[in-house]
Amino acid sequence: MKAIYPGTFDPITLGHLNILEKASKIFDEVILGVADYTAKQNYFDPLERFELCQTCTAHLSNVKVIRFTGLVVNFAKEQNCRILIRGLRAVSDFEYELSLALHNVKLSPEIETIFLVPSLRYMYLSSSMIRQLADLDADLNDFVPPAVAKALKQKLNRKS
Ligand code: ADP
Repeated sequence: MKAIYPGTFDPITLGHLNILEKASKIFDEVILGVADYTAKQNYFDPLERFELCQTCTAHLSNVKVIRFTGLVVNFAKEQNCRILIRGLRAVSDFEYELSLALHNVKLSPEIETIFLVPSLRYMYLSSSMIRQLADLDADLNDFVPPAVAKALKQKLNRKS
């Protein structure tokens, strides 16, 4: 069975990879769907986010990275896929993720969302925290894959 793990991945973190690795053991094929659209402000542009996801998931043979525009449910239909994976961290994710899943079911009743919980050490890791820490030139190697740490460093150097 195939599943889609959709998100903006701005940028992809070890928390996302933890969820993806778990999903890749459960499903035959997992599509990491990188959304062009984000309601938040873009840090990396869609192509950069896509390329970083590709680099960081190269070790997972049943994972394919695909960029998409528009609604996740339409992307899932195009891919002939009925399962969406989302990650659930602390309580703060719950309301938003539940609302998103219910809206997706309303838009497309045949699509189900499955939530996976990360390992404890990734529970409080978020892309927004990484973006803030990167702007303050923190060492990010415990939080993101090396390619992402390098890309964040380059971005900071271009800004200064
Ligand atoms: P969004 O799609 O809301 O922009 P992201 O791209 O940051 O969110 O993340 C995609 C999914 O991965 C979301 O379900 C989010 O809750 C989940 N996620 C993000 N970071 C982690 C983490 N550290 N552990 C588990 N799940 C996570």
